[in-house]
Amino acid sequence: MEFGLDVNTRTRVRPSRQQRAICQCCEEELIAKCGNFRVHHWAHKNSHCDSWWEPETEWHRNWKNKFPAEWRESIKYDTISNEKHIADIYNPNNDLVIEFQNSPISLDELRSRESFYNKLIWVVNAENAVIKTTSIQSISEEANTMLEEILNETMNDFIKIPSEIVSLLNNQKDKILSEMKEGFYKQELKELKYHFNTQFDIVAQKIQEGKIIHIVGEAPTKVKENLFRPIVNKAVQYIDNFINKNEYLDQNNQYLNYEWKRRKKVWNYSKKPVFLDTGEELLWLQSDTILKKTPYSKFLTKYSINI
Ligand SMILES: [Zn+2]
Repeated sequence: MEFGLDVNTRTRVRPSRQQRAICQCCEEELIAKCGNFRVHHWAHKNSHCDSWWEPETEWHRNWKNKFPAEWRESIKYDTISNEKHIADIYNPNNDLVIEFQNSPISLDELRSRESFYNKLIWVVNAENAVIKTTSIQSISEEANTMLEEILNETMNDFIKIPSEIVSLLNNQKDKILSEMKEGFYKQELKELKYHFNTQFDIVAQKIQEGKIIHIVGEAPTKVKENLFRPIVNKAVQYIDNFINKNEYLDQNNQYLNYEWKRRKKVWNYSKKPVFLDTGEELLWLQSDTILKKTPYSKFLTKYSINI
């Protein structure tokens, strides 16, 4: 931690060998770590009192230094649960917490942190991430190719899908359509395809074994068309919205298609804005396929003040 409380005056102080301080959060005595290898910091004698705290790196400090000192390491307290945590940055003007995340985070922790801090933004260290970006138009092409592949897969239309199975699959499609988040479609399409294939195989198996002879139902080719096309159409509609938005944005600020090699899936579940810091710029994740380039200057103008 950059700050402890002076044992006598209780004002916030930075670590130095002469300084004696206690933790702002748990009030235990702290040890000043002022070596040559890591950023100077305060450490607890035993483990850190805030389980969400991660060891501070240069990367953390560089980010925090872009915000006023009073905003850094702010204690947040929940009066109902009695929970206490140290927010990396608390911007009182926007009632906003900014967390800088360097190490991997579990889904459970992500969820508890997002519910503890009401307004929250994640900045994730992605200096070593391999992220390939292409124009956003390529997502529509990719989605349509995926659809064509599914529809062109030849199926024996002699095998009819029973009506009750068709309505089951349609219900799943409707659920996907109503819950589909802007710009997402890949996982949804894969899941529905899996269910469709499973159901088709069950029917085919039964026919082969002579368990069913005459089926009242629909041809698989038609069922597929009704299931998958609406999902791709909706995805493409969303993507077109982003293409339209791009017309008003400059090159450094655009929505792009992206592929993140060895993607950290936990960020798919985040309900708060997630910015990947590549070391050159910020990439604001919009979906599993769309991101928005965000220059550092723009981020800081919005969330910090001139210091
Ligand atoms: Zn503590």
